[in-house]
Amino acid sequence: MAAEEKQMQKFDVEKAASLMKELRNNYNSRKTKSYEWRMSQIQSIANMIEEKEEEIIEAIHKDLSKPPFETFISEAKTSLTTYPSSAEIISEPLGVVLVISTWNYPFLLSLDPVIGAIAAGNAVVLKPSEIAPATSSLLAKLLEDYVDNSAVRVVEGAVAETSALLEQKWDKILYTGSPRVGRIVMAAAAKHLTPVILELGGKSPAVVDSTINLQVTTRRIIAGKWMANNGQACIGVDYIITTKDFAPKLIDSLRNELKEFFGKNPMESKDLSRIVNPFHFARLASLLDEDKVSDKIVYGGQRDEKQLKIAPTILLDVPDDSTIMKEEIFGPLLPIVTVEKIEDSFDVIKSKPKPLAAYFFSDDEQMKKEFVQNISAGGIVFNDTIVHTTVSSLPFGGVGESGMGSYHGKFSFDAFSHKKAVLYRSFNGDSTTRYPPYTAEKQKL
Ligand code: NAD
Repeated sequence: MAAEEKQMQKFDVEKAASLMKELRNNYNSRKTKSYEWRMSQIQSIANMIEEKEEEIIEAIHKDLSKPPFETFISEAKTSLTTYPSSAEIISEPLGVVLVISTWNYPFLLSLDPVIGAIAAGNAVVLKPSEIAPATSSLLAKLLEDYVDNSAVRVVEGAVAETSALLEQKWDKILYTGSPRVGRIVMAAAAKHLTPVILELGGKSPAVVDSTINLQVTTRRIIAGKWMANNGQACIGVDYIITTKDFAPKLIDSLRNELKEFFGKNPMESKDLSRIVNPFHFARLASLLDEDKVSDKIVYGGQRDEKQLKIAPTILLDVPDDSTIMKEEIFGPLLPIVTVEKIEDSFDVIKSKPKPLAAYFFSDDEQMKKEFVQNISAGGIVFNDTIVHTTVSSLPFGGVGESGMGSYHGKFSFDAFSHKKAVLYRSFNGDSTTRYPPYTAEKQKL
């Protein structure tokens, strides 16, 4: 570790420039463009995941004490298809691209964009998150072993290393993380007119009306909150909106199912992730401790600073001007907002920045139509949570404050390609009408 730290400290602007130069040369040699190279690299990553599954799960467990099964279903299954180009539109790689990743799904959110970049034929540098150090160093080691390092590299590190990388002229940057750092990335990219994809976060609501299967709804809300990294997920359910009349039923059902899933004492459950670090623990604790919020807890509320654990916690009708209703929660706290009629939920959602995901539980077809028409969000899911990310035919990305650009499946290939418009003409049929002199006769045509 000491040697690794030393190596990380040495990564500065000079090193970033030389890395960029090396990859640029290799990219210019056109090696990354061949179908064989791209397929062999992706195949190698697939082998890596298969062969090193246990190490990957162990690293993520070290970083987040994430239940291994949750990691397996959410991070260790990747698939990718490449797509042909047409005679008229040529998909060409952009060049040398940068992927800056985050810690909550530290494996998936690093490799998924890297695979897209390789599929499209780019050289790529991955900067994993320093907040998940075990996964970061495993990714650095595994990619060194499994892929062609002349065009695919990992740079580990934090702000200093990322800043050094950001000074370079990249052909595209895909950043996953907070809107605050997203602004830093975009400003750095603007200096070089580098396009960016920003995969950010936000307050993703789940609206629950009364025409539902209550047990299925409850379980899927739990899956989209506490089973998703204990709420530390960009598309995790941030808050619920339901009617005043229905709220007590929903809360009872959540209580029952939570007990079923995580036992009477969820602080001891092995099926819940911990909070990633003391900073985020303190941030979440301060959301709960705010005066107008602390007496609104209707379930949970236990926390253990030493173990960085916070129990699934439900709050009812916290004031709209409280911090918990203004900022992305990114943790196991779930406020329930009540409205008179379910249609009123639209105004609640629209009063906040556009979310990354919006969930709507209902069997009312007319309401569903209105929800789609009224609500702008990165993605919308009816009667479930978070599963849209597994549908590779759907683009994944935010809108407004929740991000720009998208990827997944074919969209990953497109995200890292330029669509070059090519027009083939022959010398035949050269009409004179386009050329001067523009006689009256020609103008009649
Ligand atoms: P963060 O923005 O602090 O860190 C992410 C990356 O940015 C890391 O690699 C880090 O090294 C780098 N970084 C941090 N500070 C920097 C700086 N000053 N200059 C340059 N680089 C810097 O991430 P976070 O806040 O811990 O992540 C949580 C956020 O990420 C939430 O808002 C969440 O919703 C969002 N998120 C989005 C997605 C998505 O796919 N849209 C996925 C996961 C998380």
